[in-house]
Amino acid sequence: MSSILSKRPIVDAHCDTWLRLLENGSTDFTKTDGHIDLERLMASPVGIQVFALFTPPKWGEDRGLRHLMRLLNLSRDLMVRHRQDLRPILTSGDVDGPGVGVLLAVEGLDVLSEDLDLLELFFHLGVRSAMLTWNGRNRLADGATNQESGGGLSRLGRQVIRRMVELGMVVDVSHLAERAFWDVLDETDGPLMASHSNAKALCDHPRNLTDAQLRALGERGGVIGINFYSQFLVAEGESRSEDLLRHMAHVLDVAGPASVGFGSDWDGIESWPVDVAGVAGMAGLAERVNARFGESAPGILGDNFRRLFRAVLPQS
Ligand SMILES: [Zn+2]
Repeated sequence: MSSILSKRPIVDAHCDTWLRLLENGSTDFTKTDGHIDLERLMASPVGIQVFALFTPPKWGEDRGLRHLMRLLNLSRDLMVRHRQDLRPILTSGDVDGPGVGVLLAVEGLDVLSEDLDLLELFFHLGVRSAMLTWNGRNRLADGATNQESGGGLSRLGRQVIRRMVELGMVVDVSHLAERAFWDVLDETDGPLMASHSNAKALCDHPRNLTDAQLRALGERGGVIGINFYSQFLVAEGESRSEDLLRHMAHVLDVAGPASVGFGSDWDGIESWPVDVAGVAGMAGLAERVNARFGESAPGILGDNFRRLFRAVLPQS
């Protein structure tokens, strides 16, 4: 166990921990009663944690933008205060390094309005990934909960994808409606991530991805982070870590071993596998992934996401 901790093999592509702190009016990340805090993170085998910056779409552009700035400010404060342990991931060279790498991702770009310069500003403030929308429809795209409208990407949404690729930001297709997903794939040839989405073939939920989507992501070097939310893992009832492994095995079969990863959604979900206790449970999960997936395990644990981040992020 000590070697796995020192190597920190896991990359977790999604959590809502910064939002949870902000909503609780707290700036203390050292020890919390949530899924992730600094003490447990540093004692875990997680080597890179993606922190989502989520703004409720119903707040609109002005209040939403102020909220996003507060999240960025909180993140900056915590990164400075805990700089011995946390390192920002801004370039491909930052993917490897001491402590825990922190990559910032905006979850839903509703706040952009029609101003693409804001996207560049977010980049300069350290954001390195984004999802066009959360579950609903906005100016850029349709989300996973309005599948029936059949809407894809708007012209503005296509421009945002192109600008993200130019800047060196990781395009995240989680939360998109299916048509919008295919529109993103039309707009760029590069590798994409689905930071926190599962297999629809195993759990028929609008947030999960069809086998055709999984296959298409795999063919272009994309990575799918398996979400720990019980509603995305099982049709009903409680979930167990075995269900996580089932989704991993399915994505591996359909998209390939280079396309599977973790996207826990810690601190953003109300139910999760009963035998995985927040970030403290990641060590046990890593052991199970190693035992089950053999030579594919290092990729699943984190090397797949590391490869994607190195390929997409700016060189310097
Ligand atoms: Zn989400």
